[in-house]
Amino acid sequence: LPTVAPGRTPVRVMTVAGSDSGGGAGIQADMRTFALLGLHACVAVTAVTVQNTLGVTGVQEIEPEVVAAQMHSVVPDIGVGAVKTGMLASAPIIEAIADACDELSIGGGRTIPLVVDPVCASMHGNPLLAVDALGTLIHRMIPLADVVTPNLDEVRLITGIDVVDAATQRDAARALHDLGARWALVKGGHLRTSELSPDLLFDGTEFIALETRRIHTPHDHGAGDTLAAAICAALAHGRTVPDALEFAKGWVTRGLESAYPLGAGHGPVNPLW
Ligand code: PLP
Repeated sequence: LPTVAPGRTPVRVMTVAGSDSGGGAGIQADMRTFALLGLHACVAVTAVTVQNTLGVTGVQEIEPEVVAAQMHSVVPDIGVGAVKTGMLASAPIIEAIADACDELSIGGGRTIPLVVDPVCASMHGNPLLAVDALGTLIHRMIPLADVVTPNLDEVRLITGIDVVDAATQRDAARALHDLGARWALVKGGHLRTSELSPDLLFDGTEFIALETRRIHTPHDHGAGDTLAAAICAALAHGRTVPDALEFAKGWVTRGLESAYPLGAGHGPVNPLW
């Protein structure tokens, strides 16, 4: 992506997501990617997680009105080229965010592109979305998504489809598009059947398959967040969704290659090269 000249206002983005006290995933991963790419990142915090490299041991949700207020404060003043949502925690928080998106022309093919990463749980299986909030995520956030970026566990929860091969991956992409997303991205990183990480993108007409080498590392904490953040960054620069995905796949691949051990558990992806 283009770099910004010193003293010039960079392209701005906003992440609506949860904090990871271990600095690996969530807001901290998004901020790392945005900063490394030369963007100015604004934040609407949805929840504070108590988390280290071994897992999540606590979650404090932010009041829904405070989440929406962060968006209303920033967007008209600072202006953002794209928005990304990550951990949304609860149904009332999702309702508040979806209303704010409607009021601020975010997502739904309107002025400001929206990337919805439908985060449901951490890699350790700790819930990051209330069980009773899944329906709200499906009915309020996915129709707003210019691109939705589930992993295969999230695909199963959202569509009921167990992706095991290319045919079921296509079925899942169709189902996500039917739920209202403009582009559906079915990430194949968790499909352990090949040495490739096959992603599939679908806009209701065209299937675009993108494969990168699978990088074997236990240090992949925040990989999903980093991919969605890099897509968001590229969209803010005016790229198309397929172009943004191609850029983001390269970014995450390098991040996995240079991921580092941290603590006693899983270290974070390190998107520096
Ligand atoms: N913690 C927070 C706050 C997150 O937003 C996410 C993912 O979006 C995670 C943890 C989970 O990351 P991972 O699945 O890489 O553990």
